[in-house]
Amino acid sequence: MNKPGNGASGTAGRVDALVGGLDLDGATGDEVAAAAAELVALGREGVAHLVRGALWRGGPGREKAAALLGCLAGEAARWAAREIERQLDVRPLNPTEQVWASAVLRRLDEAASDQEPRAPQHALADDLLEDETELLLWREEFASLPHSEQQAVLAPILQDGDPALLRLLEVALSLQSPPVDGAIAAGLSRFATQEALPLLRELLRRPDAAVRKQARASLDALERQGVDARDLFVAVGESDEPVRGVFATVPEGDGRMAVLVARGSTAARIRLVAVVVDPVEAGIATVWGETGLTEADLQHRLSSYAGKLGQRLVRLDLNTAQALVAAAERYAIERGRTLPSDYLVWRRCIGRPKAPTRLPIVFGPVCSRCGARLRGGDILRGGVIAGRAALCARCGAEPVVCESCARPLDRHTDEVFAREGADGAKVEFICARCSQGRVSGAGR
Ligand SMILES: [Zn+2]
Ligand SMILES: [Zn+2]
Repeated sequence: MNKPGNGASGTAGRVDALVGGLDLDGATGDEVAAAAAELVALGREGVAHLVRGALWRGGPGREKAAALLGCLAGEAARWAAREIERQLDVRPLNPTEQVWASAVLRRLDEAASDQEPRAPQHALADDLLEDETELLLWREEFASLPHSEQQAVLAPILQDGDPALLRLLEVALSLQSPPVDGAIAAGLSRFATQEALPLLRELLRRPDAAVRKQARASLDALERQGVDARDLFVAVGESDEPVRGVFATVPEGDGRMAVLVARGSTAARIRLVAVVVDPVEAGIATVWGETGLTEADLQHRLSSYAGKLGQRLVRLDLNTAQALVAAAERYAIERGRTLPSDYLVWRRCIGRPKAPTRLPIVFGPVCSRCGARLRGGDILRGGVIAGRAALCARCGAEPVVCESCARPLDRHTDEVFAREGADGAKVEFICARCSQGRVSGAGR
């Protein structure tokens, strides 16, 4: 072990041994600081080697490197920051490395700044933090990492405490993975801002008791730091980009509707999200979205989507669209359903309703005739939903007559339309002849 270090490679070997000997689970803060002091004693090349190793997969664990780098101050912090910047220049980093590097860099700059203040030049690309498509790519990569690597990616973000990074944590939470949830629940105590509340609210609803307990502890910690937590259950993350269009399909015979919201501060960068709500089973059935659309792209997407569904899109007011999606989410949670992970990333593009409103459909519909709760099987066996009214399979099998001409109808052989009648109190059927130009699309 006393082999004389010859130049840079000797330094490299000593850094590797230092990192290899560090046991983060057992080490006290003082021990980590002592290891960092040893590292600094190895000079600029030693610090640079640590940084390079941390950036390469398979090098010393990022978590250990982040812990050591977190102890650096003054000149040594500047050495590390310069090396990270150099690495950012010489090779492209994938999104996970980018996040890691930016978070570490920000902290190093602060640590170095008592000697040489300078403006940060390396803010994390806006593209990553504000673009759902980029965020979903990042999530895919993050999800593919083993648990220990995921923790190493999260560690510098959680130590950073910068509210801008909350978006990334929100995306990580969408995976609904207890180890990730647990780390974030603990780390949120560093984010002394109301913007952390929507994430804590999400964590307080998780099925894992340890995660909920940790989230409660972090909430207490934030309150002690002066964050007003009374808004916990109204605070939500919502895009502040102006809304450029809100659309919906008319409810289908199974009650499903697609709700679409487009937002964008310029006509060249629009995001579009579509949520299909299902009032009988899932609550939130499917979610998809796109970013970076032009106004022409948007029009094209809207018409091709409507075409694919064989449906027409109607304009909807924003509050009703938001209320539909919020009700669908509530319904899913009440039924113990896991929300689609993409929904958790896209929902801030929808936003929350600002005023109570009457929805065009009812979540958890009951048969308007016998009062039985509808299930998915009812729809398959002849039950029907028409706006706020519904018929179960059993009642739907009874004879019906045309509401308009009183002609008996056979729902199997005649073309029959169902519509909501009497303010949602019953389902009415209309024959094809009477329906000419009179059915307003309230389900077939
Ligand atoms: Zn019934
Ligand atoms: Zn008729």
